Formats: sequence, C-alpha cells, structure tokens
Amino acid sequence: MDPLKQRIVLLGPPASGKGTQADRLSKEFGIPHVSTGALLRSECARGTSLGREADEWTSKGLLVPDDLAVRIVATWMQEHGTNFLFDGFPRTVGQAEHLDQALKRMKAPLELVVLLELSDQDIRRRILERLSCLNCGATFSSSLHAQIEGGPCPKCGAPLVRRKDDTEEALVQRLKVYRELTLPVVSYYEKTAPELLHRVNAGEGSDAIFGQLSAMVGGNQG
Ligand SMILES: [Zn+2]
Repeated sequence: MDPLKQRIVLLGPPASGKGTQADRLSKEFGIPHVSTGALLRSECARGTSLGREADEWTSKGLLVPDDLAVRIVATWMQEHGTNFLFDGFPRTVGQAEHLDQALKRMKAPLELVVLLELSDQDIRRRILERLSCLNCGATFSSSLHAQIEGGPCPKCGAPLVRRKDDTEEALVQRLKVYRELTLPVVSYYEKTAPELLHRVNAGEGSDAIFGQLSAMVGGNQG
C-alpha cells in the first residue's frame, strides 16, 4: 500500500463542505487540520510580531498580503511539523507560489490537492438554507436537518443563527472573490502539479465524498 498523503490542500467554493471534510480526514488520519483564519486570529490575539503586522491589514477590513499569509503558515509548520491539511488555503495564486517556495525550502512538497466542485445553484441553496451554531461551529441545513433559526443546536444546545454573511448579496460577493482569486489557484496547480490535482463532486452526500477523499489520502485512488 502506498504511504499516506500528509501534505494536503483542499479547495472549493463556499458551502462545498471543505471544513467538514477536513475535520473528518484530520480525525481519521491524524493529520493536523490547519485553518489559516484561525492561525491569523491566534497570532493577532497573542500580539506576536506577525500578528501585529496582520492587524494593520485586517483592522482596515483588508486581506493580509500573500507573503504574510504564507509566513504565518510557515511559522506554524516550524513549530508543529510539515504534515497539514489546509482548507481554503492557498486562496490566491500568490499564496500558492509563496507556499511552494516555503515547502521547497523545508523539503516537504505538497502531496495532494483536491478541488471540491459544486454548481452555483447548489452553493446558493446550501448557503441560503444554512444555520450555524456560534458556540460549537456546527452547521445545519434548514431543509435537510429540519432545524429552525433560534432553535437549539443538536450538538451543544446553543441557539442556531443565520450568519450575517449568509445572505444573497454577500454570497454574490463571495462567489466573485472565489472566481477571481481561487479558481486561478486551481489553474496554477493544473499547470505546475497536474499529478497532484483531483476533482471531487461536492454535490454528493458527505459520506460519499469522505469515502473518495479517504481513498486519495490513503494512497488507494486508481
Ligand atoms: Zn453547537
């Protein structure tokens, strides 16, 4: 059997289930699930020099520059090792290039890139039906799971809410950003590492997707 893939990038549009799948893979295979958003917030909260640098951008509502985002990730790798599962990172071609350079220096190349594909229609439906728990982070579909806004989270009991950015207007903007920034990342990997890139239909059920991803991570894909 082939060895496990332990340096993984999961890409996909909003509501494609990246975070959920990354969590499940992380538990199944013991690969750290790294959320760059969480890393960024942690650096800012701890007031590290990287955090202060990032604050100058985020406090103005701007995205941090690509090289800074990758320096934050590289710092995490120096402390925690070079096995990772990134979800939604790199989100620009610039980040992908900086990440490749950083991994090259660490002699730890990427092993798997997966794009979760979902139609615009499915993205819209999932987002507009989504209810989130601000306490434990779980999300539910108002149609699929029959949860209601303000009702208790089935996992922890806190009230479920509709996130402020789960609106039609915000969705249009997020899809635009995804198309303009992240789809070129997919093209970048298509050009530079076609053998690493796999596409998965995210319209299928969560378990079916997890099965496909597990086979890829376990090195058993055809
Ligand atoms: Zn909850």
